[in-house]
Amino acid sequence: MSGVIFSRNRIKLKKLLGIRARLAMLAVLLVAPLMLERVRSLEDTRARQIATASQEYANITQHSAETQREVISSVETMLKSAAYIRASSGIGRSCEILRASLPANLPWIRSIMLVSKDGVVQCSTLNIQVGLNIGDREYFRKAQQTSDFVFSDYLFGKTNNRPIMMAAYPVSAINPEEDSVAVAGINIDWLSKIMAKLGGRPGISALLIDSTGVVLAAPADQASAIGQPLDNVPLLSAITYKALASNSDTGSLSFTTTDGSKRAISFARIPGTQARLVVSVDEARVTAAINREIRTAYLQLGFVCLFVLLGALIGAEKLIINPIEVMTGMARRFGEGDSSARVSRSRLPSEFVPLARAFNAMAAQLSQRERELVATNDRLTVMASIDMLSGLANRRGFQSRLDFEWMKAQQYHCELSLLMIDVDHFKLYNDTYGHPEGDACLTRIGETLAGIAGDTTGFAGRYGGEEFCLLLPNTSAQKALEIGEAVRATVQGLGLPHVTSSYGKVTVSVGVAATLPSDAQTPGDLIEAADAALYAAKHRGRNTVVEHGFARLVDEAGMAMAG
Ligand code: GH3
Ligand code: MG
Ligand code: MG
Repeated sequence: MSGVIFSRNRIKLKKLLGIRARLAMLAVLLVAPLMLERVRSLEDTRARQIATASQEYANITQHSAETQREVISSVETMLKSAAYIRASSGIGRSCEILRASLPANLPWIRSIMLVSKDGVVQCSTLNIQVGLNIGDREYFRKAQQTSDFVFSDYLFGKTNNRPIMMAAYPVSAINPEEDSVAVAGINIDWLSKIMAKLGGRPGISALLIDSTGVVLAAPADQASAIGQPLDNVPLLSAITYKALASNSDTGSLSFTTTDGSKRAISFARIPGTQARLVVSVDEARVTAAINREIRTAYLQLGFVCLFVLLGALIGAEKLIINPIEVMTGMARRFGEGDSSARVSRSRLPSEFVPLARAFNAMAAQLSQRERELVATNDRLTVMASIDMLSGLANRRGFQSRLDFEWMKAQQYHCELSLLMIDVDHFKLYNDTYGHPEGDACLTRIGETLAGIAGDTTGFAGRYGGEEFCLLLPNTSAQKALEIGEAVRATVQGLGLPHVTSSYGKVTVSVGVAATLPSDAQTPGDLIEAADAALYAAKHRGRNTVVEHGFARLVDEAGMAMAG
């Protein structure tokens, strides 16, 4: 049993390693170079994207700082012109000009004001600031002391507590008689906007810190950090102190945070200020995004391969395996004797059609030949049971007919009679007229017997040599005796000359036996009985009919046994 399973498995394995596997391998071989190329380009992309990301953020940092510098220089110009106006006009007139001249295209200038020497805001483009005292601000005092342009550090506005930067320019720098100071508030909202853009990307943190480490601007998701010292924001503080610790204006560095993630930092000092813009990149998270893209690409690649493989397999199945199985099935059916088995060409790919056509033609020819063989065989069977000389059944044919009639008679409880007919002194006939003439004589007797068989629904045969037989189904001993007599008389009536016979003509002796077939006897018994009767007829001088009394003998034997 296990042997069978094993060999079945081996067949399965062989099947697997067959056309399907080869086509699949071919498909993989075709796709593999494309796959490898794609993998290589994906890995390139990964490295390039990481490099690009770092570079991009360094550039953004630098660019933001540069933009800030431009802001500062535009503020300087505005303040100097404000101071000039104040130097040449009274405070009222100066304020009017100032309000009218604040250009709309410098949105970062929140306000421009003129401040008295003790720090009171005398006029401002923002009314709310008028009357405020900024005398305590360090930049204000410094401007008065140095008589030059001064930037504050980033600080928080007195009116709204939002991070701003202040610039101051003493009018005395233009007109020593005038001691007021021109002051500008600079919005740094735009920086928050830049950082918001950065903050939208995973793994990127950007923030603006002042010299003391207070967050001045941060992206929206870290907006709560604004105004707070960095200690409240552990990760950012770690980043920032790294930036602060390095004493240069701009730079990049990378380090590992306490939680083990690798970070790359770009920072730039805003010129003229102590503030730094810090952009940090969590490499793991940036690469995570890239890795995700690459994973998706690998997945797509995998699917493509899978589809190619499936396609190859299904293609092989439909285009090659199925047709082969169809043809094999037909060949098997044909081999098992179903000669009507034909391959339906419509179900096959066109390449298989010639093969199917050839198969069908072969099948048609084979079944035609088989029909011929059967017919020939039938003819041979008939010939094998026919005697060519007399045209009657030969001994074999007679024997099988006897068996059949015996069975039938036994089944229907009918009598069965048998005549054994032997030509008298036939040796002498041959000797007298020659063998060919003897054959002709046998043929005539055969024809005669056939005629009588036809009349009596009997079955005539040539038992051997010059001995014939006539099987009479459903015929009693009496009737058989009569028919025997008719045979004898008819042959004699033919008047075939036989000079060496005592009758001067060809005559026959007839032995008759009849019975009601039963299991107690065999067909051989009936032949034997008829033979014995024939022997008796010869003994009585030939040209005579003798009945054996076989049935009676059997009856008596049966009665004796019963008695
Ligand atoms: P009986 O009256 O006792 O039957 O004598 P018989 O001569 O007929 O019997 P026997 O058995 O002595 O001889 C039979 C002969 O029949 C011998 C054989 O040459 C002849 N014979 C048998 N078959 C054929 C045949 O097919 N053709 C010819 N021409 N003769 C045959
Ligand atoms: Mg004879
Ligand atoms: Mg004989």
